[in-house]
Amino acid sequence: MPKILAITGGIGGAKLALGLSQLLGPEQLVFAVNTADDFEHLGLHISPDIDSLTYALAQQNNQDLGWGRQGETWQFIETLASLGGEDWFRLGDKDMALHVRRTQLLASGHSLTQATQSITQAMGITHRVLPMSDDPVRTLVHTDQGVLPFQEYFVKQRCQPKVIDFEFQGIEDAQLNPALAAWLAQCDAVIICPSNPYVSVDPMLQLAGFKALLAPLPVVAISPIIGGLAIKGPAAKMMQELNVPTSAAAVAKHYEGLIDGFIVDKTDENDSKQIKIPSIVTNTIMVTLQDRVSLAEDTLRFLREFS
Ligand code: GDP
Repeated sequence: MPKILAITGGIGGAKLALGLSQLLGPEQLVFAVNTADDFEHLGLHISPDIDSLTYALAQQNNQDLGWGRQGETWQFIETLASLGGEDWFRLGDKDMALHVRRTQLLASGHSLTQATQSITQAMGITHRVLPMSDDPVRTLVHTDQGVLPFQEYFVKQRCQPKVIDFEFQGIEDAQLNPALAAWLAQCDAVIICPSNPYVSVDPMLQLAGFKALLAPLPVVAISPIIGGLAIKGPAAKMMQELNVPTSAAAVAKHYEGLIDGFIVDKTDENDSKQIKIPSIVTNTIMVTLQDRVSLAEDTLRFLREFS
């Protein structure tokens, strides 16, 4: 069986990650996760993408909200607000416990990788969830309303400001997670999950040495843009503001030189003809668990063409 690295951001990528985890065991599949949208808030270290992936893999994600943890209550954040505290970043009670635990592990000298391993194992996840780096990298969004830390842009301002550029503060000094580098050295292929190319995948690609480790391996990406729109989140809005066509073909172009194959949704069958990179067309809209597993199967089958 092949050894795979799946690169993912939060919610979109995590859907495919769950599908892949149903087909490949922990000896065959490792996840690399964006940490550039991590932030420190209320004295806690919050890792939104790691948490979205963790909740998805544990099948504990909140399907009603589309983010956060299942069966959530909100007593903490409501009480905090009643005391005059900040409540713009909605933290559920169960979610809070995870952030407290991570923060405590980090404060007692554990790395983010170790803290993540402790939490994922406690939640019954057997696959390795590797932060892209143990060093801090923080996305700053340059907008028409000034430079905003990512979560202020994303949550507080609801992605309203117009994007001009992205900056990944700390990226030059951040070391690629050594566990990730070690897995890549023995890995057979790489999947870039349907995540936001600009703020979820690009920070990882910009870590020193990462692209060089990907170069000898077959890499396949799945489009997060379907019919010119993002299923969720600001990817299409960002493309528009950056004067990039909002299409799957434009995502393929964004990854040119890096990927060997691209997967587009059935909706974009016509658009796929413009793509120079070898592509397949399939259903990429993941609503059910079966959708996630089917796309994972299609992706693994496609990857075999490059091995
Ligand atoms: P975030 O960090 O939580 O925003 O999550 P990601 O960066 O991993 O994913 C965001 C992207 O996932 C968006 O551009 C969505 O369009 C895409 N996405 C969400 N659900 C799906 C899906 O079912 N299929 C595909 N192809 N893309 C999806």
